[in-house]
Amino acid sequence: MHIEFTTKNLDVLLYQKSILQYIYDHYHHKDYPRYMEQDEWTIYIKSLGEFNKKFYDDNIANINYKMAHGVTGMNEVTCYLDDNPNNMIFRTNMMVVTHELAHMILKIYYPTKKGILNQDDTYAKKGSMRNFFSTEVHNRWEADMNRMFDINHKGMNHSFVGVDISDIVNTRNINRGF
Ligand SMILES: [Zn+2]
Repeated sequence: MHIEFTTKNLDVLLYQKSILQYIYDHYHHKDYPRYMEQDEWTIYIKSLGEFNKKFYDDNIANINYKMAHGVTGMNEVTCYLDDNPNNMIFRTNMMVVTHELAHMILKIYYPTKKGILNQDDTYAKKGSMRNFFSTEVHNRWEADMNRMFDINHKGMNHSFVGVDISDIVNTRNINRGF
């Protein structure tokens, strides 16, 4: 797995640690096939200014491009973040990062399962059937199902909030049989 940064001001090590903690807390440490699948992914951390709206169709034009957002595709996650080292910005950026990472993790666990959207989202209306790895993250996001993560970095504690998908996946130490 690669994490590639083209931002200029973010604390790369802090973001790397946070991303790795979120990802690997969702796989059992003996789950080699998923580790191998995870290895195929690249996570791009870019600044908001690098987003090129022209490559995206009009259906997603209601995204606020001035705010951090992300896209999860085939073996790649791209996050467009506020390129600012402030600690409050770290928290809002990580909400975007963990949202996309949750799509990625559920795509690895549930590649073909379908789900129903509980609320309208950027792409579709409430009641639409789509990939579970898409609908489930958006349903939980709307329902404020979040979980707090703590990172110790350079002697300081940094916390961030991520979508809570812990009941439908394994954890590093617990194999729930998923
Ligand atoms: Zn999403």
